[in-house]
Amino acid sequence: MLKIKHIKVKGFETVVVGRDSTSNLRAIIAVHSTKLGPSLGGIRMWPYRTEKEALQDVLRLAPAMTKKAAIFELPIGGGKAVIIGDPRKDKTRSLLLSMGELIESLHGEYIAAKDSGILPEDLDMVSENTRHVTGTTEKQGGSGDPSLATAKGILAGMQAACQSVFGSKNLKGRVVAIQGVGQVGWYLGNLLSKQGAKLLVADLQPLRVKRAQRSWNASEVPLLKIHQVQADIFAPCALGGILNANTIPRLGAKIVAGGANNQCMDEAQDPYLLMKRHILHVPDYVLNAGGLIHLFVREILHQRRVAPWILNIEQTVHRVLSASFQEQLPPLVMANRMALQKIGL
Ligand code: NAD
Repeated sequence: MLKIKHIKVKGFETVVVGRDSTSNLRAIIAVHSTKLGPSLGGIRMWPYRTEKEALQDVLRLAPAMTKKAAIFELPIGGGKAVIIGDPRKDKTRSLLLSMGELIESLHGEYIAAKDSGILPEDLDMVSENTRHVTGTTEKQGGSGDPSLATAKGILAGMQAACQSVFGSKNLKGRVVAIQGVGQVGWYLGNLLSKQGAKLLVADLQPLRVKRAQRSWNASEVPLLKIHQVQADIFAPCALGGILNANTIPRLGAKIVAGGANNQCMDEAQDPYLLMKRHILHVPDYVLNAGGLIHLFVREILHQRRVAPWILNIEQTVHRVLSASFQEQLPPLVMANRMALQKIGL
């Protein structure tokens, strides 16, 4: 039976922990803000070592969803969910059904989507126990995997960053180092390869690296070196925290622009370290908003054409970068200011 415990966390509207010893579900949902609308955000499944680690992750991810929706003026709030477990071994039908029950217990305050470790087919099962899910398969009435839209937005934002740093948005011949070639990294690599970029890749899963080598003639870089290689752009597309006091001094690219959420380990310090090194870091939640925009347009507005909305990402990146240049503040600090103003905080 599913047991639900509400915990109080300062700055969050609702945080629930769900445990079910029959299905082996151990999950946390964090609703950061519903000020602009119901909170929407992905479910991440990851083999966190402890519940504390899972809680820390979800509490970092949910506020970024609030800012992401706000900066693009979408009438939705910010929330996120995590499931403790290895998606390759522990993802069962009964676990996903329990997750649906946990989401349903919040009566629409949190609307689920996919994140790392979760696929549209998994969301179909989650949706058997709750209506509050986006990104299920088209067969199930959803709009499917938003990762391609996410990658298209990243590409648009990368072009804005290249315009700012190199004076041209053309990506032909640019060297891009991609960390993580899962869903987002894979679609991004496809788009970049079509633009004529040269790709360097690293992934925990060797088969994914092989697929990138075969498809794009990409070069493999060891996992611990991918952020250090000499490149025009470093694109983190795995998990968060890759930008920190240890990695920033060793970064080999002039631009950091990728899809991973919460790239800075310490948001108070890391954006300034990057600025000191004259590395342009495009704020992750601005760059990777394509997936959220896709779900909003297709499943909340019920419109089909997402492309014009994605172009908005390029313009928003331009606005953030020029404001950051004028104010001499890191782009992430500038984006946070712009997003929080829109929520009236
Ligand atoms: P995914 O699980 O499909 O891909 C992540 C990939 O990163 C996997 O192949 C994994 O093996 C690899 N990886 C993990 N740790 C690594 C490491 N230390 N070094 C190298 N590779 C590593 O997930 P995804 O859906 O592609 O999402 C990737 C990131 O983008 C996540 O941070 C997610 O929150 C963010 N994001 C995704 C979307 C989306 O539409 N899918 C939207 C916004 C943000």
